Amino acid sequence: MNIEKSKELFERAVKVIPGGVNSPVRAFAPVGGQPRFITKAKGSCLYDEDGNEYIDYIGSWGPMIIGHNDERVLAAVQEQIMNGLSYGAVTAVEVEMAELITEIVPCIEMVRMVNSGTEAVMSAIRVARGFTKRNKIVKFEGCYHGHADALLVKAGSGLMTAGTPGSAGVPEGCVKDTLTATYNDLESVEQLFKENPDEIACVIVEPVAANMGVVTPKEGFLQGLRDMCTKNGTLLIFDEVITGFRLKLDGASGYFGITPDLVTYGKIIGGGMPVGAYGGRREVMETVAPIGNVYQAGTLSGNPVAMRAGITQLQILRDNPDIYDRLEKNGEFFRAQLREILVKHNLPYKVNGIGSLTCLYFAEDEVVDYKSAQKSDTAAYADYFRFMIDRGNYLGPSQFEACFLSDAHTEAQIKKTLADIEEYFG
Ligand SMILES: *Cc1c(COP(=O)(O)O)cnc(C)c1O
Repeated sequence: MNIEKSKELFERAVKVIPGGVNSPVRAFAPVGGQPRFITKAKGSCLYDEDGNEYIDYIGSWGPMIIGHNDERVLAAVQEQIMNGLSYGAVTAVEVEMAELITEIVPCIEMVRMVNSGTEAVMSAIRVARGFTKRNKIVKFEGCYHGHADALLVKAGSGLMTAGTPGSAGVPEGCVKDTLTATYNDLESVEQLFKENPDEIACVIVEPVAANMGVVTPKEGFLQGLRDMCTKNGTLLIFDEVITGFRLKLDGASGYFGITPDLVTYGKIIGGGMPVGAYGGRREVMETVAPIGNVYQAGTLSGNPVAMRAGITQLQILRDNPDIYDRLEKNGEFFRAQLREILVKHNLPYKVNGIGSLTCLYFAEDEVVDYKSAQKSDTAAYADYFRFMIDRGNYLGPSQFEACFLSDAHTEAQIKKTLADIEEYFG
Protein backbone atom coordinates (compact mmCIF):
# COMPACT_ATOMS: atom_id res chain seq x y z
CA MET A 1 0.00 0.00 0.00
CA ASN A 2 1.43 3.37 -1.05
CA ILE A 3 1.29 5.86 1.82
CA GLU A 4 3.86 8.41 0.66
CA LYS A 5 1.61 11.44 0.95
CA SER A 6 0.55 10.49 4.47
CA LYS A 7 4.22 10.15 5.39
CA GLU A 8 5.05 13.60 4.03
CA LEU A 9 2.08 15.19 5.80
CA PHE A 10 2.98 13.52 9.08
CA GLU A 11 6.52 14.90 8.85
CA ARG A 12 5.04 18.39 8.49
CA ALA A 13 2.41 17.77 11.18
CA VAL A 14 4.78 16.73 13.96
CA LYS A 15 6.70 19.98 13.58
CA VAL A 16 3.69 22.16 14.33
CA ILE A 17 1.14 19.99 16.17
CA PRO A 18 2.05 18.01 19.32
CA GLY A 19 2.49 14.44 18.11
CA GLY A 20 1.05 15.50 14.77
CA VAL A 21 -2.49 14.97 16.06
CA ASN A 22 -5.29 17.05 17.52
CA SER A 23 -6.45 14.18 19.71
CA PRO A 24 -4.11 11.49 21.03
CA VAL A 25 -6.37 8.60 20.01
CA ARG A 26 -5.59 9.39 16.37
CA ALA A 27 -1.90 8.77 16.90
CA PHE A 28 -0.61 5.35 15.94
CA ALA A 29 1.75 5.34 18.93
CA PRO A 30 0.13 2.31 20.64
CA VAL A 31 0.35 0.21 17.46
CA GLY A 32 3.23 1.68 15.47
CA GLY A 33 3.05 2.42 11.77
CA GLN A 34 2.03 5.45 9.79
CA PRO A 35 -1.17 7.42 10.51
CA ARG A 36 -3.23 7.82 7.34
CA PHE A 37 -4.34 11.34 6.41
CA ILE A 38 -7.96 11.14 5.36
CA THR A 39 -9.31 13.26 2.51
CA LYS A 40 -12.89 12.05 2.32
CA ALA A 41 -15.39 9.54 3.59
CA LYS A 42 -18.55 8.03 2.18
CA GLY A 43 -20.84 5.39 3.64
CA SER A 44 -18.67 2.89 5.49
CA CYS A 45 -15.43 3.90 3.75
CA LEU A 46 -12.53 6.26 4.36
CA TYR A 47 -10.13 7.44 1.64
CA ASP A 48 -6.63 8.68 2.34
CA GLU A 49 -4.33 11.20 0.65
CA ASP A 50 -2.70 8.46 -1.40
CA GLY A 51 -6.07 7.28 -2.71
CA ASN A 52 -6.27 4.14 -0.56
CA GLU A 53 -9.71 2.95 0.49
CA TYR A 54 -10.49 1.54 3.94
CA ILE A 55 -13.55 -0.05 5.48
CA ASP A 56 -13.96 2.21 8.49
CA TYR A 57 -14.60 0.58 11.87
CA ILE A 58 -14.24 3.81 13.84
CA GLY A 59 -16.95 6.01 12.35
CA SER A 60 -15.28 9.15 13.73
CA TRP A 61 -15.33 7.34 17.12
CA GLY A 62 -19.06 6.90 17.02
CA PRO A 63 -20.94 9.76 15.39
CA MET A 64 -21.30 8.26 11.92
CA ILE A 65 -23.86 5.61 12.85
CA ILE A 66 -25.71 5.83 9.54
CA GLY A 67 -22.48 6.02 7.56
CA HIS A 68 -20.39 8.95 6.36
CA ASN A 69 -21.71 11.86 4.39
CA ASP A 70 -25.34 10.83 4.30
CA GLU A 71 -27.07 12.84 1.60
CA ARG A 72 -29.99 13.89 3.79
CA VAL A 73 -27.68 15.22 6.50
CA LEU A 74 -25.52 16.94 3.90
CA ALA A 75 -28.52 18.64 2.26
CA ALA A 76 -29.84 19.91 5.61
CA VAL A 77 -26.42 21.33 6.53
CA GLN A 78 -26.03 22.99 3.13
CA GLU A 79 -29.40 24.66 3.49
CA GLN A 80 -28.57 25.97 6.97
CA ILE A 81 -25.15 27.23 5.93
CA MET A 82 -26.76 29.59 3.41
CA ASN A 83 -28.34 31.44 6.34
CA GLY A 84 -25.13 32.05 8.26
CA LEU A 85 -22.88 30.02 10.51
CA SER A 86 -23.57 31.43 13.97
CA TYR A 87 -25.66 34.17 15.54
CA GLY A 88 -25.10 33.98 19.30
CA ALA A 89 -28.83 34.40 19.77
CA VAL A 90 -31.70 31.99 20.28
CA THR A 91 -32.91 29.99 17.26
CA ALA A 92 -35.81 27.71 16.37
CA VAL A 93 -33.43 24.88 15.52
CA GLU A 94 -32.31 24.69 19.17
CA VAL A 95 -35.90 24.33 20.33
CA GLU A 96 -36.41 21.65 17.70
CA MET A 97 -33.34 19.76 18.95
CA ALA A 98 -34.40 19.92 22.60
CA GLU A 99 -37.94 18.82 21.73
CA LEU A 100 -36.59 15.95 19.67
CA ILE A 101 -34.30 14.69 22.46
CA THR A 102 -36.99 14.95 25.14
CA GLU A 103 -39.39 13.16 22.78
CA ILE A 104 -37.11 10.20 22.06
CA VAL A 105 -35.47 9.77 25.49
CA PRO A 106 -38.12 9.47 28.22
CA CYS A 107 -35.75 10.24 31.12
CA ILE A 108 -34.76 13.62 29.61
CA GLU A 109 -37.18 16.36 30.60
CA MET A 110 -34.82 19.28 29.94
CA VAL A 111 -31.58 19.46 28.02
CA ARG A 112 -28.73 21.93 27.49
CA MET A 113 -26.52 21.84 24.40
CA VAL A 114 -22.73 22.17 24.59
CA ASN A 115 -19.88 21.60 22.13
CA SER A 116 -18.34 18.28 23.14
CA GLY A 117 -18.74 15.24 25.33
CA THR A 118 -16.09 16.59 27.67
CA GLU A 119 -18.08 19.76 28.21
CA ALA A 120 -21.29 17.80 28.71
CA VAL A 121 -19.75 15.67 31.47
CA MET A 122 -17.99 18.60 33.12
CA SER A 123 -21.28 20.49 33.25
CA ALA A 124 -23.36 17.54 34.44
CA ILE A 125 -20.96 16.98 37.33
CA ARG A 126 -21.21 20.66 38.28
CA VAL A 127 -25.00 20.42 38.20
CA ALA A 128 -24.96 17.28 40.35
CA ARG A 129 -22.75 19.04 42.89
CA GLY A 130 -24.85 22.18 42.82
CA PHE A 131 -28.10 20.26 43.16
CA THR A 132 -26.98 17.97 46.00
CA LYS A 133 -24.68 20.55 47.65
CA ARG A 134 -22.08 17.80 47.97
CA ASN A 135 -18.56 17.64 46.52
CA LYS A 136 -17.51 14.04 46.08
CA ILE A 137 -18.06 12.07 42.90
CA VAL A 138 -17.65 8.40 42.10
CA LYS A 139 -16.28 7.16 38.79
CA PHE A 140 -15.14 3.74 37.64
CA GLU A 141 -11.65 2.61 36.78
CA GLY A 142 -11.28 2.42 33.02
CA CYS A 143 -14.30 4.61 32.24
CA TYR A 144 -13.48 7.69 30.20
CA HIS A 145 -15.51 10.84 30.65
CA GLY A 146 -13.56 13.36 28.64
CA HIS A 147 -10.52 15.36 29.67
CA ALA A 148 -11.86 17.60 32.45
CA ASP A 149 -9.46 17.75 35.42
CA ALA A 150 -11.61 15.99 38.00
CA LEU A 151 -12.22 13.03 35.71
CA LEU A 152 -8.68 12.30 34.60
CA VAL A 153 -8.15 9.87 37.40
CA LYS A 154 -6.43 6.68 36.45
CA ALA A 155 -7.23 5.22 39.80
CA GLY A 156 -4.85 2.30 40.33
CA SER A 157 -5.98 0.41 43.36
CA GLY A 158 -7.18 3.64 44.94
CA LEU A 159 -10.60 2.27 45.75
CA MET A 160 -10.67 3.38 49.32
CA THR A 161 -8.47 6.41 49.03
CA ALA A 162 -8.91 9.64 47.15
CA GLY A 163 -7.85 9.59 43.50
CA THR A 164 -4.44 10.44 42.14
CA PRO A 165 -4.14 12.48 38.93
CA GLY A 166 -3.71 10.47 35.74
CA SER A 167 -2.27 13.43 33.84
CA ALA A 168 0.42 15.97 34.50
CA GLY A 169 -1.02 19.43 34.99
CA VAL A 170 -3.91 18.20 37.11
CA PRO A 171 -3.37 19.46 40.67
CA GLU A 172 -4.10 17.01 43.48
CA GLY A 173 -6.74 19.43 44.68
CA CYS A 174 -8.77 18.93 41.48
CA VAL A 175 -9.09 15.19 42.02
CA LYS A 176 -9.28 14.99 45.77
CA ASP A 177 -13.07 14.62 45.58
CA THR A 178 -12.95 11.98 42.85
CA LEU A 179 -13.45 8.49 44.25
CA THR A 180 -12.93 5.46 42.05
CA ALA A 181 -14.71 2.14 42.08
CA THR A 182 -14.38 -1.06 40.09
CA TYR A 183 -16.68 -1.54 37.10
CA ASN A 184 -19.14 -4.40 37.54
CA ASP A 185 -18.39 -4.53 41.27
CA LEU A 186 -21.24 -3.12 43.36
CA GLU A 187 -19.41 -3.85 46.59
CA SER A 188 -16.66 -1.40 45.66
CA VAL A 189 -19.32 1.31 45.31
CA GLU A 190 -21.09 0.28 48.53
CA GLN A 191 -17.77 0.65 50.32
CA LEU A 192 -17.35 4.24 49.07
CA PHE A 193 -20.85 5.13 50.23
CA LYS A 194 -20.06 3.67 53.65
CA GLU A 195 -16.84 5.65 53.94
CA ASN A 196 -18.34 8.91 52.66
CA PRO A 197 -21.84 9.13 54.08
CA ASP A 198 -23.91 12.07 52.75
CA GLU A 199 -20.92 13.35 50.80
CA ILE A 200 -21.29 11.81 47.35
CA ALA A 201 -22.96 14.12 44.81
CA CYS A 202 -23.06 11.65 41.94
CA VAL A 203 -22.00 8.32 40.53
CA ILE A 204 -21.00 8.64 36.89
CA VAL A 205 -20.76 5.55 34.72
CA GLU A 206 -20.53 4.52 31.10
CA PRO A 207 -23.51 2.12 31.07
CA VAL A 208 -21.51 0.06 28.59
CA ALA A 209 -17.83 0.80 29.14
CA ALA A 210 -16.52 1.48 25.65
CA ASN A 211 -13.21 3.15 26.43
CA MET A 212 -11.41 0.08 27.77
CA GLY A 213 -12.41 -2.01 24.78
CA VAL A 214 -16.04 -2.99 25.30
CA VAL A 215 -17.14 -4.11 28.76
CA THR A 216 -20.83 -4.78 29.24
CA PRO A 217 -22.55 -4.34 32.59
CA LYS A 218 -23.23 -7.55 34.48
CA GLU A 219 -26.86 -8.40 35.25
CA GLY A 220 -27.97 -6.17 38.11
CA PHE A 221 -24.96 -3.82 38.07
CA LEU A 222 -26.73 -0.73 36.71
CA GLN A 223 -29.89 -1.39 38.74
CA GLY A 224 -27.68 -1.78 41.83
CA LEU A 225 -26.13 1.63 41.15
CA ARG A 226 -29.60 3.11 40.70
CA ASP A 227 -30.78 1.70 44.01
CA MET A 228 -27.69 2.79 45.92
CA CYS A 229 -27.87 6.33 44.52
CA THR A 230 -31.56 6.65 45.37
CA LYS A 231 -30.95 5.40 48.89
CA ASN A 232 -28.11 7.86 49.47
CA GLY A 233 -29.56 10.98 47.87
CA THR A 234 -26.89 10.77 45.18
CA LEU A 235 -27.50 11.46 41.49
CA LEU A 236 -26.83 8.74 38.94
CA ILE A 237 -25.25 10.05 35.74
CA PHE A 238 -25.14 7.87 32.65
CA ASP A 239 -22.36 9.01 30.36
CA GLU A 240 -24.00 8.06 27.07
CA VAL A 241 -21.54 9.86 24.84
CA ILE A 242 -20.99 6.52 23.06
CA THR A 243 -24.11 4.51 23.92
CA GLY A 244 -26.63 7.33 23.39
CA PHE A 245 -28.71 6.79 20.23
CA ARG A 246 -26.50 3.76 19.50
CA LEU A 247 -27.62 0.81 21.63
CA LYS A 248 -31.16 1.89 20.89
CA LEU A 249 -32.81 5.19 19.98
CA ASP A 250 -33.15 5.94 23.70
CA GLY A 251 -29.66 4.65 24.42
CA ALA A 252 -28.54 2.57 27.37
CA SER A 253 -31.22 3.93 29.70
CA GLY A 254 -33.82 2.49 27.32
CA TYR A 255 -31.86 -0.65 26.52
CA PHE A 256 -31.38 -1.64 30.15
CA GLY A 257 -34.56 -0.03 31.46
CA ILE A 258 -32.78 2.11 34.06
CA THR A 259 -33.64 5.76 34.72
CA PRO A 260 -30.59 7.91 35.51
CA ASP A 261 -30.99 11.43 36.93
CA LEU A 262 -28.71 12.98 34.34
CA VAL A 263 -27.43 11.82 30.96
CA THR A 264 -24.52 13.17 28.93
CA TYR A 265 -24.32 13.01 25.15
CA GLY A 266 -21.76 13.67 22.44
CA LYS A 267 -20.68 11.94 19.25
CA ILE A 268 -23.91 10.73 17.52
CA ILE A 269 -25.91 13.72 18.73
CA GLY A 270 -23.98 16.04 16.39
CA GLY A 271 -24.09 13.85 13.30
CA GLY A 272 -20.37 14.55 12.80
CA MET A 273 -20.39 18.17 14.02
CA PRO A 274 -18.90 19.19 17.40
CA VAL A 275 -21.90 18.82 19.72
CA GLY A 276 -22.52 17.59 23.23
CA ALA A 277 -25.50 17.81 25.56
CA TYR A 278 -26.56 17.04 29.09
CA GLY A 279 -30.05 16.62 30.36
CA GLY A 280 -32.32 14.80 32.74
CA ARG A 281 -34.87 15.39 35.45
CA ARG A 282 -36.53 18.81 35.28
CA GLU A 283 -35.94 19.53 38.96
CA VAL A 284 -32.22 18.88 38.56
CA MET A 285 -31.84 20.77 35.27
CA GLU A 286 -33.59 23.78 36.77
CA THR A 287 -30.44 24.43 38.81
CA VAL A 288 -28.72 25.56 35.59
CA ALA A 289 -28.22 29.30 34.90
CA PRO A 290 -30.01 31.55 34.10
CA ILE A 291 -32.86 30.02 36.13
CA GLY A 292 -30.59 28.35 38.68
CA ASN A 293 -27.29 29.13 40.32
CA VAL A 294 -25.09 26.58 38.52
CA TYR A 295 -23.22 28.56 35.87
CA GLN A 296 -22.57 27.03 32.47
CA ALA A 297 -22.29 28.84 29.15
CA GLY A 298 -20.98 28.57 25.58
CA THR A 299 -20.46 31.06 22.76
CA LEU A 300 -21.09 28.46 20.06
CA SER A 301 -23.43 26.16 22.03
CA GLY A 302 -26.48 25.19 20.01
CA ASN A 303 -24.75 26.30 16.83
CA PRO A 304 -27.37 26.23 14.06
CA VAL A 305 -25.31 24.28 11.52
CA ALA A 306 -24.31 21.69 14.12
CA MET A 307 -27.91 21.44 15.37
CA ARG A 308 -29.20 20.88 11.85
CA ALA A 309 -26.72 18.04 11.23
CA GLY A 310 -27.54 16.40 14.56
CA ILE A 311 -31.30 16.76 14.23
CA THR A 312 -31.32 15.33 10.72
CA GLN A 313 -29.36 12.24 11.75
CA LEU A 314 -31.49 11.75 14.89
CA GLN A 315 -34.67 12.03 12.81
CA ILE A 316 -33.38 9.39 10.42
CA LEU A 317 -32.68 7.11 13.40
CA ARG A 318 -36.12 7.81 14.89
CA ASP A 319 -37.96 7.20 11.63
CA ASN A 320 -36.08 4.01 10.71
CA PRO A 321 -36.09 1.67 13.73
CA ASP A 322 -34.95 -1.14 11.41
CA ILE A 323 -31.49 0.51 11.57
CA TYR A 324 -31.08 -0.78 15.14
CA ASP A 325 -32.23 -4.28 14.14
CA ARG A 326 -29.61 -4.36 11.40
CA LEU A 327 -26.85 -3.02 13.66
CA GLU A 328 -27.72 -5.66 16.25
CA LYS A 329 -27.84 -8.45 13.66
CA ASN A 330 -24.58 -7.41 11.98
CA GLY A 331 -22.86 -6.97 15.33
CA GLU A 332 -23.95 -10.42 16.49
CA PHE A 333 -22.85 -11.93 13.16
CA PHE A 334 -19.45 -10.23 13.38
CA ARG A 335 -18.86 -11.44 16.95
CA ALA A 336 -20.07 -15.00 16.25
CA GLN A 337 -17.77 -15.27 13.23
CA LEU A 338 -14.85 -13.82 15.19
CA ARG A 339 -15.36 -16.39 17.94
CA GLU A 340 -15.53 -19.16 15.34
CA ILE A 341 -12.21 -18.07 13.86
CA LEU A 342 -10.64 -18.05 17.33
CA VAL A 343 -11.94 -21.54 18.13
CA LYS A 344 -10.83 -22.87 14.76
CA HIS A 345 -7.29 -21.65 15.31
CA ASN A 346 -7.24 -22.65 18.93
CA LEU A 347 -6.70 -19.12 20.20
CA PRO A 348 -7.68 -18.17 23.75
CA TYR A 349 -8.67 -14.56 22.90
CA LYS A 350 -11.96 -13.01 23.97
CA VAL A 351 -14.65 -11.23 22.00
CA ASN A 352 -16.80 -8.73 23.91
CA GLY A 353 -19.59 -6.62 22.55
CA ILE A 354 -23.16 -5.47 22.38
CA GLY A 355 -25.13 -4.25 19.36
CA SER A 356 -22.82 -2.38 17.01
CA LEU A 357 -19.90 -2.26 19.49
CA THR A 358 -17.29 -5.02 19.49
CA CYS A 359 -13.84 -5.60 20.94
CA LEU A 360 -11.46 -8.45 20.21
CA TYR A 361 -9.27 -8.67 23.29
CA PHE A 362 -5.91 -10.35 22.94
CA ALA A 363 -6.51 -11.64 26.46
CA GLU A 364 -6.98 -15.12 27.86
CA ASP A 365 -9.40 -14.36 30.69
CA GLU A 366 -12.87 -12.87 30.49
CA VAL A 367 -12.72 -9.08 30.42
CA VAL A 368 -15.15 -7.58 32.95
CA ASP A 369 -13.31 -4.51 34.26
CA TYR A 370 -10.21 -2.38 33.91
CA LYS A 371 -7.83 -4.87 35.54
CA SER A 372 -8.86 -7.74 33.32
CA ALA A 373 -8.73 -5.50 30.23
CA GLN A 374 -5.20 -4.46 31.17
CA LYS A 375 -4.06 -8.09 30.89
CA SER A 376 -4.42 -7.90 27.12
CA ASP A 377 -1.36 -8.46 24.96
CA THR A 378 -1.09 -5.01 23.38
CA ALA A 379 1.91 -5.99 21.27
CA ALA A 380 -0.15 -8.79 19.70
CA TYR A 381 -2.95 -6.33 19.00
CA ALA A 382 -0.47 -3.91 17.40
CA ASP A 383 0.75 -6.60 15.00
CA TYR A 384 -2.84 -7.51 14.11
CA PHE A 385 -3.75 -3.83 13.61
CA ARG A 386 -0.89 -3.24 11.18
CA PHE A 387 -1.83 -6.29 9.13
CA MET A 388 -5.48 -5.23 9.04
CA ILE A 389 -4.91 -1.63 8.00
CA ASP A 390 -2.66 -2.68 5.16
CA ARG A 391 -5.55 -4.85 3.96
CA GLY A 392 -7.87 -1.85 4.01
CA ASN A 393 -9.55 -2.35 7.37
CA TYR A 394 -9.39 0.79 9.53
CA LEU A 395 -9.62 -0.40 13.15
CA GLY A 396 -8.96 1.60 16.33
CA PRO A 397 -5.19 2.13 16.75
CA SER A 398 -5.31 0.72 20.28
CA GLN A 399 -6.43 -2.51 21.91
CA PHE A 400 -8.73 -0.52 24.15
CA GLU A 401 -10.91 1.07 21.48
CA ALA A 402 -14.25 -0.31 20.38
CA CYS A 403 -14.90 -1.40 16.84
CA PHE A 404 -17.95 0.53 15.58
CA LEU A 405 -20.37 -0.76 12.96
CA SER A 406 -22.56 1.67 11.04
CA ASP A 407 -25.71 1.03 9.07
CA ALA A 408 -23.68 1.61 5.89
CA HIS A 409 -21.54 -1.50 6.46
CA THR A 410 -22.65 -4.24 4.10
CA GLU A 411 -22.53 -7.94 4.84
CA ALA A 412 -19.97 -8.27 2.03
CA GLN A 413 -17.68 -5.72 3.73
CA ILE A 414 -17.97 -7.40 7.10
CA LYS A 415 -17.18 -10.75 5.44
CA LYS A 416 -14.15 -9.25 3.69
CA THR A 417 -12.84 -8.01 7.04
CA LEU A 418 -13.52 -11.43 8.62
CA ALA A 419 -11.65 -13.11 5.75
CA ASP A 420 -8.64 -10.86 6.46
CA ILE A 421 -8.83 -11.72 10.15
CA GLU A 422 -9.02 -15.40 9.29
CA GLU A 423 -5.96 -15.02 7.08
CA TYR A 424 -4.09 -13.19 9.84
CA PHE A 425 -4.70 -15.96 12.37
CA GLY A 426 -4.38 -18.75 9.81
C1 LIG B 1 -15.69 10.48 23.72
C2 LIG B 1 -16.20 10.42 25.10
C3 LIG B 1 -16.25 11.55 25.92
C4 LIG B 1 -15.63 12.86 25.52
O1 LIG B 1 -16.26 13.43 24.42
P1 LIG B 1 -15.46 14.52 23.54
O2 LIG B 1 -16.49 14.98 22.55
O3 LIG B 1 -14.31 13.80 22.94
O4 LIG B 1 -15.04 15.60 24.46
C5 LIG B 1 -16.87 11.44 27.15
N1 LIG B 1 -17.40 10.29 27.55
C6 LIG B 1 -17.38 9.17 26.81
C7 LIG B 1 -18.02 7.93 27.31
C8 LIG B 1 -16.75 9.19 25.56
O5 LIG B 1 -16.68 8.08 24.84
